[in-house]
Amino acid sequence: MIKNSIKRRTFIKKTGLLSIPLGLGLYGCQDNKGSAIETDIAIIGSGLSGLNAALTLQAFGYKSTIIEATDRIGGRVYTAKEEDVPGHPELGANGIGGGYGRLLSAATKYGIEIGPMRPRTEPRKGELLYAIYDDLILPDQWKTHPKNPFHLDWAKGMSPTSVPWKVYADTNPLPENDLTAWRDPKFAEWDRSIASVMKEQGFTEEAMKLSVGTNSSYGISADDMSVLNFYQILNFISQQSAAKTGRGGAAIGGNQRIPEAMGNAYTGDIRQNSPVKSISAAKDSVTITLDNDKVVKAKYVIITLPAYALRRVKIDPPLPALQQEGIDELGYTPNAQVHFTVKKNYWEEDGLPPSMWSDKLCGRFMALKNDVDNPEKVTSIVAYVNTNEALKLSKMSEKDAKAIVMKEAEEIRPSLKGALEPVYYWKWSNNPYAGGAYAYWKPGQITKYADQFANPHGRIHFAGEHTAVYFRGMEGAMESGERAASEVMKLVG
Ligand SMILES: Cc1cc2nc3c(=O)[nH]c(=O)nc-3n(C[C@H](O)[C@H](O)[C@H](O)COP(=O)(O)OP(=O)(O)OC[C@H]3O[C@@H](n4cnc5c(N)ncnc54)[C@H](O)[C@@H]3O)c2cc1C
Repeated sequence: MIKNSIKRRTFIKKTGLLSIPLGLGLYGCQDNKGSAIETDIAIIGSGLSGLNAALTLQAFGYKSTIIEATDRIGGRVYTAKEEDVPGHPELGANGIGGGYGRLLSAATKYGIEIGPMRPRTEPRKGELLYAIYDDLILPDQWKTHPKNPFHLDWAKGMSPTSVPWKVYADTNPLPENDLTAWRDPKFAEWDRSIASVMKEQGFTEEAMKLSVGTNSSYGISADDMSVLNFYQILNFISQQSAAKTGRGGAAIGGNQRIPEAMGNAYTGDIRQNSPVKSISAAKDSVTITLDNDKVVKAKYVIITLPAYALRRVKIDPPLPALQQEGIDELGYTPNAQVHFTVKKNYWEEDGLPPSMWSDKLCGRFMALKNDVDNPEKVTSIVAYVNTNEALKLSKMSEKDAKAIVMKEAEEIRPSLKGALEPVYYWKWSNNPYAGGAYAYWKPGQITKYADQFANPHGRIHFAGEHTAVYFRGMEGAMESGERAASEVMKLVG
């Protein structure tokens, strides 16, 4: 199915392609009836990177077609519908940095208002409880708790997930504000595991398991992630804070309004529900085959898929071995979420803060306050689950996942019995078109693969957040789309 029938008609009218037979050296695609549709540049994926590539090309007068697997624009920018979850929380990207120049410009250009950040996984002060080691612990009690696994005074007093960030800050060898140094071979010695650095500072396996490997924001464990990746993140965060633009936050109505507005501004065709299964490049054209065996032909293609999704796409001629290996191996942060409506204010019953950070399958169990007119109102609860817990959850059926999250939450906090209604389940892990929330680099991967991902392969070009050099997340996706579009424009002339 395509984006809408008006666009489809416009597209066919503009190109007159229904009358062009295949095999004449023209670039084309078979529509439902086997007729040909041609495009100059095919862009695979309608996330921010694909949309920004398409709009950059459009701004310079180039024609393109976007091919998208799902029935939605925005990829990993995904806002729940109000009728599904009150307050329409973000299921995907949440925070827009003040220095997200491209994304904020797009929002301004397409009339999307940016409002305050909507806290999701970081509760406001005084609102968090630790539900760990089968105990409910207030932050003030944590420092002296008998199971606190940290050996240093400063670490004992911190929230467990903050501890490694101080270690990263203390050991970060990258020059301040340098956004590209993480790729500099000079720092390759730091492309080693977080565990290797934390062990040098005396942290035990248990301390690392709790602080890095339990419902934290990235990856799976301290052994599984490169500390250089976190030095990059720190430099990126400090650059964003230094931006002081007074902007940043979240789009009013949900972040998904931004890619939707970009999609509306795009005058080309967006073919939705069209998963790509193979791409074959010849000397003067590229043939793209969809899951339903329809064929698209283009002069150039820009692939914007997460590496995980790209593993399912056959590319011919094969990519260089190292590039393919990187695609096969890159890490994706596991994430699954159960959203609840509140039937009873359980926190008033037990007198404890509404949000809890747990070491269980209920993950970061967070009270969301997404009503702009009533900022103190809890609009919904999310069990935002990462690391191994998310992997376990995402292998279950929706029914089982909702049930086990609820059961584990109630076991640790009895006031939750009968308090919540699970209304929505979403997983990025095991999702064939994403594979996880965002890419992370395992030890050695930056040195080995970082320079490989964006390498064009004949007429095939690559974008997507994992190919970005300067920025991360949404802004990284925007950066990569612009870079890939400019590569192709140089070639088309
Ligand atoms: C839970 C979560 C929290 C996040 N938090 C933040 C945050 O706070 N701040 C921030 O900046 N970023 C955040 N991000 C990251 C941000 O969302 C991504 O970096 C960015 O949106 C990626 O854009 P992209 O275009 O590279 O990829 P995507 O958005 O993944 O776009 C790729 C598109 O390709 C499509 N596709 C996949 N396979 C195929 C196929 N075979 N054929 C055709 N189409 C296909 C997909 O459906 C998708 O639409 C978060 C992401 C998640 C999931």
